[in-house]
Amino acid sequence: EHKFLSSLKDIPAITPDGVAITLLANIANADDMDDALTYRAAGAGLFRTELLFMNRTAFPTEDEQLEFYKKTALKAKGKPVTVRTIDIGGDKPLDYFTFPKEDNPFLGYRAIRISLDRQDIFITQLRAILRASVFGTLKIMFPMISSLQELRQAKEILERAKAQLSDEGIEFDKTIPVGMMIEVPSAAVMADLLAKEVDFFSIGTNDLCQYTLAVDRGNEKVKALYDPFNPAVLRLIGYVIEQAHKQKIGVSLCGELASDPQATLVLMGMGLREFSMSAASIPAIKNVIIHNAFSKATEICENVMAMDNSKTIIDYLQTQK
Ligand code: PEP
Ligand code: MG
Repeated sequence: EHKFLSSLKDIPAITPDGVAITLLANIANADDMDDALTYRAAGAGLFRTELLFMNRTAFPTEDEQLEFYKKTALKAKGKPVTVRTIDIGGDKPLDYFTFPKEDNPFLGYRAIRISLDRQDIFITQLRAILRASVFGTLKIMFPMISSLQELRQAKEILERAKAQLSDEGIEFDKTIPVGMMIEVPSAAVMADLLAKEVDFFSIGTNDLCQYTLAVDRGNEKVKALYDPFNPAVLRLIGYVIEQAHKQKIGVSLCGELASDPQATLVLMGMGLREFSMSAASIPAIKNVIIHNAFSKATEICENVMAMDNSKTIIDYLQTQK
């Protein structure tokens, strides 16, 4: 079967009735971009930048970061790369940065909360991403946004970084798109308003599922409860996609759900046209797309959204293969 799937590499991701889907890769460094291109990803929908910050003794400097982003931008050869600002804390600690001792790290000092608190760290990263933007097609994305205020603050700091570079006569892409992850339920619920202030959303189902269902994504004991097919999670995803379309902004999904062939038609039926996943998962998802009419996706989505529990949903999806 592996051979069969790899034979799909050069076939476009279009349904038999002509709906084109964009398949992107999740990457963590420049080498991952090679894999992404091997699997013919249309770009990187999620560039997790944490790797650059891990396994070192101090924060990377602006120039070190520039090199890291530039290398990736160049490898992408003009294909879009969505660079997510640091998502440290929670499950991603750093050796050289003291996090407060917290009872609930996932509900605590992490991601954009650290960036907004430590603007020195944030602005250094933003300057590096902006400087790298002249070497490819980059987009900037903020993780873990939970309110309009946080988004506005992050955007304000980005404007400050841009103003600094302009003053210094340093080039950057002045129209770089700015987006945010939707991975906190409060953001999903406020998607109608948030959509007016960003160029795109990317739905992070790993955290969205954890926070919506109050189930630790890494806790084996409650593993069975961690279920992205829970109708509460599906409703939020559907709402976010709908609001993005209403405001005519981009929307993609970059959580693990994007690489689950069982979810592909449901998500397409919700209106999703951009999926971002580990590069190796692309052929299996493409296989679903090229063998199912979009009209079928619409029908499956309608049926699923009328169901009241995930067991019924998953059983039904299994019969749709
Ligand atoms: C997510 O939460 O779905 C996501 C893509 O971000 P991460 O897995 O890096 O937290
Ligand atoms: Mg996340």
